[in-house]
Order: sequence, then C-alpha cells, then structure tokens
Amino acid sequence: MANLVDDVAATVTESPDSTAVGFRGRTWSYEEFWSETGQFAQALADHGVEAGGRVALYLPNLPQYVTGFHATLRAGGVVVPMNPQYKAREIGHLLDDSGATVVVTLAALAPMVAEVREETDVEHVVAVGADDPEELPDVAVTYREFLGSADGELDTVAREDDDVACQPYTSGTTGTPKGVLLTHHNLAWNARATGDLMPGGFAADDRMLGVLPLFHIYGMTVTMLGTLFAGAAYYPMAEWDAQAAADLIEHESLTIVHGVPAMYNDLVNQPNADEFDLSSVRFANSGGSSLPIEVMRRFEDLYDVDLFEGYGLTETSPVTHANRPGERRPGSIGKPIPGVQSMVVDGNFEEVPPVERGPVEEGTDLDDVTGELVVSGPNVMTGYYGLPEANEGAFTDHEGTRWFHTGDVAYRDEDDFYYVVDREKHMIVTGGYNVYPREVEELLFEHEAIADAAVVGIPDDRRGETVKAFVVPTPDADVTPEEIREYCLTNLAEYKHPREVAFVEELPRTTTGKVQKFELRDSE
Ligand code: AMP
Repeated sequence: MANLVDDVAATVTESPDSTAVGFRGRTWSYEEFWSETGQFAQALADHGVEAGGRVALYLPNLPQYVTGFHATLRAGGVVVPMNPQYKAREIGHLLDDSGATVVVTLAALAPMVAEVREETDVEHVVAVGADDPEELPDVAVTYREFLGSADGELDTVAREDDDVACQPYTSGTTGTPKGVLLTHHNLAWNARATGDLMPGGFAADDRMLGVLPLFHIYGMTVTMLGTLFAGAAYYPMAEWDAQAAADLIEHESLTIVHGVPAMYNDLVNQPNADEFDLSSVRFANSGGSSLPIEVMRRFEDLYDVDLFEGYGLTETSPVTHANRPGERRPGSIGKPIPGVQSMVVDGNFEEVPPVERGPVEEGTDLDDVTGELVVSGPNVMTGYYGLPEANEGAFTDHEGTRWFHTGDVAYRDEDDFYYVVDREKHMIVTGGYNVYPREVEELLFEHEAIADAAVVGIPDDRRGETVKAFVVPTPDADVTPEEIREYCLTNLAEYKHPREVAFVEELPRTTTGKVQKFELRDSE
C-alpha cells in the first residue's frame, strides 16, 4: 500500500537539499518545500480543516499549487482541483458539490469565488499574487498572510491509504462534472507505476516539464507526484506556449516531457519548429486524447526523441495503458500497465476476441472487432461522490472482479496492444452505418494543408446524422473545403466522408487538449 504524504516525506528525508520545484529562475529545495507545506497545513488546521475536509485549489500551475496540494494532505484534507479557466457558475457547482471550506486561488480569480460564496460552505479564501491586499474581496487574505497566521509547522495528520486524498471532477466535455473519489493508494500507486515505465525508472536527477495542468489528473499524478516521489525536480509552467515550453526545456535541460496531442501538434507546427533544441529530453509521452500518427512522426523526425502514447481517465488516477520502450505500436494506446487488468466487452459483458495484429486493415468493419474497454486495478476510483446511480452504471462485478466502464470503444490484438477507436458518445450513426470520427480525423491529419481537424455528427433529415469536418488549414495552405471533401471521398468508404467541411481558425479545446465536440455541434 502507498500513502501520498509518507512517500513524499521519505523523499524529503533522503534528499533535503535537492531541487523540488523550479519556477521562473527560482528554486525550492525539498526541505524548503516541506517546511512551507507544514506551515500551510498548520494554517489550514487553524482555519478548521480536519481529516476529510475539502480544500479547493483554483490555480494555474504555480509553486503554490504544489504546496497547497501537499499542505491539504498533511492537514488530513482532500484536494478539490478546479480549472482556473472556469467561471463563477462552474466553480459554484464544484464548491457546492464538494463542500469545500477553503479555496486557494489567484488574486485575479478571488472575486469569482466571492461571487458564489454564499451558495457554498466556503469560509476562507487564500489569494496568491495579490499586490495590494486592499484590492481583495473581504473574505480573502493573501497567501503570505495566511501562512504567517500559523504558529509553526503542523505534524502531519495521519490518513489511511484507503482514505480519499483527492476529488477531481471529470473534464465535463459531456454532461455535468462528477466528483471522482481517489484514495492515497490509487494515486501513489499510479504515480509509481507510470514512473517505472521509463527506461531505468524515474531518476532523482530527472527534470520534469510541468506544463500539463495540475488540476487535471495527468498533470497531477504523472508529472507532479511522480517527480516528487522520485526526488526529482518539477518545473511548472502556468500556461501552454510552444516557444516558451521549448525554451524552458532547453534552458533547464529538462529530461522528461508529458503533453497532450494538441501541444505536440502546436509545437511541430511552429514556423521555427526545427530550431528547437530538445536534446536533453530522454522520455516524451502523450496522453489525454488520441495522438495522430502524423503528429508523432513529425515530432520524432524533428527532435530524434521517441514519443510514446499512454491512455487513462480521471477515474483511474489516470494511467491504465501505455506504450513503452521496446513495446510500442503507433496508433495504439499500448498494453495494460503491470497491475492493471483490461478487457474489451460487448453489450452482454462477453469478451470480444482479439484481432491478430493491430492496427486493423483499412476497410475492416470496426463494429465487428470492437467493444467497450473495461479495466480493473489498484488505481480505479472508489466511486463518484454522492452519486449512487452513476456508480452503479460505472462498474460491473464479473467473476469476482470489479470492472470499471471507460465509455471508450476499443479493440485488442493478440499481442495485447489496445486501440481506442473513439469515445462511445462520439460515434456517428449515418444512414444506419457507424462512423468513428477518429478514423476520419487521422486521414485529415495526413493532409499537408491541414494543421488541425475534428469530426462530428450533425443532424440530417434523411440519414439521421451526417459527418461534418472542422478543419484548421495551415497558414500558407492553398486548398478549398471541396478539395478536402474529395480527398476524403477518395480515401474512405462513401458513408464515412464528411459531406460538409468547414474551415475554422481554431478548434475549441479543453486545457487538456480534448476537442469540445458539443460546442462544434452547437455551432451548427
Ligand atoms: P479524462 O477523465 O479527462 O482524463 O478523460 C478520459 C478520456 O480521455 C478517456 O476516456 C478517453 O476517451 C480519452 N483518452 C485519454 N487518453 C487517450 C488516448 N491515448 N487515446 C484516445 N483517447 C484517450
């Protein structure tokens, strides 16, 4: 069993003087970081946070996010991460649902918290980056004031490994966000397991690019927790910027890069992409949504670094499958990581037989080989917070194992590589045929005039739904929507080709790189 606080405390004892966090030229040693979290934890306890109490972090990737996270755990609390792009209405729901009593946020976001406070249990707001405390809403104090209010450092409040440590909300690309209950063991186990996938494991002299948002499970577990468990150094970046990320990698000689496909796509599409020096990077990984094969190839050609793909969900802490050195297949999410069980099942929970070797040939009827991906393992959540009905639908008990339904359509090959075809909810049914948008999107990415693309189903009187592509052309592209349509028609079965192609400047994406397909559909 594993415990987040004990594991990080062990690193602090082992390497007190090593750099834990580096940000804008400043560094915090493990000892400094731990001392600040102790003080922060004491302040939280003084302000009523007890074992199981919820503390919301409504911040971009900053060193204070990392201290706020560990201070909450040391006070015995549960972290509720909130996307700093959320507006009052969205955080209102999360705060109300979670029952958080303290919010740690940015000075600029504090008014948003003040606006919804009355409808929630929030009693204290701690604001990072306040130049003038007078400008803060009455309920808020500055980060320094809050820390200064503590008389010394708290002795960690012991929590069981099975106690909940974190309650992130699912990304909300569909439906109302649900709170996901993740225990100390869920997260600590997954952070270690993913570190072990790298050649030689996660080393103390590794340096991690911290650009994946910390409010999202991929950034939280794989980049931040993984780094601190290893005694390595974490370099947060408050927002994505391709040039700035490349500069940070070069200047700080970062060794590990984790990103979502949209980041890699953006990086390789920079006009000066071939000038970036990423030679310090020993491991690069993509996750969060499917990595177009074309983007992977371009990244590898430009930087001579293998780009691995992994897969997971908030509900699984997150990683369940990954490609790894010596065991990888482009287009695949890889094999289940050691300790995770995985199956593809049909509607009767019967296992769908594997294909011989993936990826399947073009023209294969995907409906014949796919089913829903279900998983089981030490990283699977205990359940959704306060939603018994959602929990019932999320799990199936089968032959003594509790399987979690991912909601993703996938197939498996005989070598145990898995291929995610699409989200179940994204499948388009047109004239009785099923179309998986990803298949069309992969083809669009291969077109030299296309920088980004997404495919959705739109209502159609005759066919029920019809396929529509939203395409971002490359800056110097000389191409028409009609030509793109023809290109798809030449390369795909007729029913799969987008009958409509719209050129747009940008696709609506979540900060974790997922295209917000409902927004594209609504733009109709
Ligand atoms: P989230 O809970 O926000 O992490 O979203 C989880 C979902 O992201 C999964 O159910 C998948 O639909 C998608 N996802 C994550 N990684 C991949 C991947 N490598 N390929 C395809 N889809 C992915």
